[in-house]
Amino acid sequence: MSDELSPQALEARRSRMARVRARMEETGVDVLLLSHGADLPWLTGYRAMPLERLTLLVLPLVGDPVLVVPRLEAPRVPGADGLFDVLPWADDVDPVDLVVDQVAGVSSGRFALSDRAWATTTLALQRRLPDARWIEASTVTSPIRAVKDAAEVAALRAAGAAADRVAVVLQSGGIPLLGRTEAAVSADLGALLVAEGHSAVNFAIVGSGPNAASPHHEPGDRVIGPDETVVCDFGGTLSLDGDVGYCSDITRTVVTGEPSPEIRECYDVLQAAQQSAVEAAVAGATAAAVDAVARDAIDAAGFGHLFVHRTGHGIGIEEHEDPYLVVGNDAPLVPGHAFSVEPGIYLEGCFGMRLEDIVVIGSDGRPDPLNTVDHGLVVVDH
Ligand code: ZN
Ligand code: ZN
Ligand code: ZN
Repeated sequence: MSDELSPQALEARRSRMARVRARMEETGVDVLLLSHGADLPWLTGYRAMPLERLTLLVLPLVGDPVLVVPRLEAPRVPGADGLFDVLPWADDVDPVDLVVDQVAGVSSGRFALSDRAWATTTLALQRRLPDARWIEASTVTSPIRAVKDAAEVAALRAAGAAADRVAVVLQSGGIPLLGRTEAAVSADLGALLVAEGHSAVNFAIVGSGPNAASPHHEPGDRVIGPDETVVCDFGGTLSLDGDVGYCSDITRTVVTGEPSPEIRECYDVLQAAQQSAVEAAVAGATAAAVDAVARDAIDAAGFGHLFVHRTGHGIGIEEHEDPYLVVGNDAPLVPGHAFSVEPGIYLEGCFGMRLEDIVVIGSDGRPDPLNTVDHGLVVVDH
């Protein structure tokens, strides 16, 4: 994070603020209160540490936004350039008093509070504003955050390209697998994510052999053997132009020897399903329809019961955010939506596989995959 935000990044932030106010008006929200969680950095550039002291952006529908922030954290707040005021509080005051002062004129209004606010914050505010009505901040922010602006797409694209470079090293055998533990391979993937430009590693799942059948397997002491599938699902956060970071998330499955006919058959089904789902992700299609494309293809091959999760999740400042590609989500996709397409096939006790790309819906309404590295089942036999 830096105080020197590029003019484009500053403009993007102004535009987000304007869209938030418009949506507050639409949803009848008088005050938006942002505490911990991703809405705050998205809107202000400030990532609050998730500690006990109160941090709260008070954004009234009418009037200037004020960031109530612990005094010792105030130096970390990036230059707001007139976008919001900063109100630091010292340890001898009750910060809830400051918030209540800010909203004195609308204390019986409708308040939207961060989904990730601590219960201590929520309950203190509810006690002090007994006439207020409360809803989740995501009601206001989520639909806006889900549609990425140009600066956000650029950041996601840079993060995706960096993750692709790590996947190239994996597929070309640059990370030895045979005889090494999943944890050691995971550490290598994490180090490469940082070397390729990420500021943080968010996860590096490595599941080998029967562990590959557990989609969110925690890499451990298991030593990788010959002729096994190894699911590698990794991602981090990458910052562009001093803005807050955006996430990468990619899965490639490799195999440590010539794949058995069974593994080959499953992988062919998986790859075709993933590709069809990516191609189906056009503006106007519903999120559920894209999920169904992947699911129907795997189902038709007789493996439907082995695909045990939704097809994808939105991605941005957070690894998982709207829109979710899941049964029941009948919201249509629109240009700017960014999400994963990641079907998997998991045979308990035997093997597993997953294939994941991040896809953005382009301004032409077409799917624009941010990960383009080899989608095949690559053999890494050393
Ligand atoms: Zn996952
Ligand atoms: Zn993933
Ligand atoms: Zn994912």
